Amino acid sequence: MCGIVGILGSAPVAGQLVDALKRLEYRGYDSAGIATLDHGVMARRRAEGKLHALEIKLVAEPLGGNTGIGHTRWATHGRPTELNAHPHATDRVAVVHNGIIENFRELRERLIAAGHKFNSETDTEVVAHLVTDYMTKGKSPADAVAATLKELRGAFALAFLFAGHDDLLIGARKGSPLAVGYGKGEMYLGSDAIALSPFTDTLSYLEEGDWAVLTRKGVKIYDAQDRPVERAIEKSSVSTHLVDKGNHKHFMAKEIHEQPEVVGHTLAHYIDMVSETVDLPVALPFDWSKIKRLSISACGTAFYAGLVAKYWFERFAKLSVEIDIASEFRYRGAPLEAVIWRSSFRSRARPPIRWRLCAMRAR
Ligand code: GLU
Repeated sequence: MCGIVGILGSAPVAGQLVDALKRLEYRGYDSAGIATLDHGVMARRRAEGKLHALEIKLVAEPLGGNTGIGHTRWATHGRPTELNAHPHATDRVAVVHNGIIENFRELRERLIAAGHKFNSETDTEVVAHLVTDYMTKGKSPADAVAATLKELRGAFALAFLFAGHDDLLIGARKGSPLAVGYGKGEMYLGSDAIALSPFTDTLSYLEEGDWAVLTRKGVKIYDAQDRPVERAIEKSSVSTHLVDKGNHKHFMAKEIHEQPEVVGHTLAHYIDMVSETVDLPVALPFDWSKIKRLSISACGTAFYAGLVAKYWFERFAKLSVEIDIASEFRYRGAPLEAVIWRSSFRSRARPPIRWRLCAMRAR
């Protein structure tokens, strides 16, 4: 899972943003970036790879300003490049996003037709353009975000920064967690309490559909129908826990709710969402159009994955599939023509998990 942090501070925030992102490294990421406001002027630095690459950029080209947002990205839409790294921005707004905007394609087409120019392959960039579109039509930042949220389908946590508004951050959550942190004359946004633990242990977790308008004086939280709501202010006990439960009651509930995002990230390695094509991790040494039958043998979780593959191959490729528990497969003496072997190791602590994909031509 990727990370979000936002700071309305009383001193330059670039270093603090990077420190907070370092605390989120445990969630996994492929690129990172920050945007700050210096006397109303918005600027950003982004880098592919580890946070160290971003730090090097910030040494070469420092960012001033007491207001900022930061992000560690784990790509779902678009390659892990600097251009696709967050924050995504127009001249009016910068946004960081965890999760997936499912209807990004239709929104992107609509905005392009209206004259917006896109610079990345991500789903996230539509959010920046949509908010800008509403602001150009006269809405305030808060009203533009409220209108934008109603158009987004999918799972997301978002943090917004607005050019010319040094005392404003807006956060929103649907599906992915987001917390508001309270400091002394400072306010924060974070995808979990761990990111905010160097700054504050006093938090409110946004609930499903909530969005929050932060100034240095405090926060106003609204629900999905834009009604003002109160959310409990809690003391976080992150110092005693390595991993944060967010506002879930149990870690198990948290993991269940994270599944759509984790599956999205995993598939993103193989699917190019923008061009809607699949990139296989290895070039297969045969012509799929000549394959008449597929035999999969696997154990444990891989066996269940194979069952899903059977449904998909049969339904979409009209290719008949058989699947065996790997330990039984060798005793069956199944006639195979071509064999592709892959094995993978989950972790050093666990026994190796191997799977075989056996493809054969019908005789
Ligand atoms: N879907 C967004 C992207 O691919 C956000 C990914 C994330 O959660 O880091 O840029």
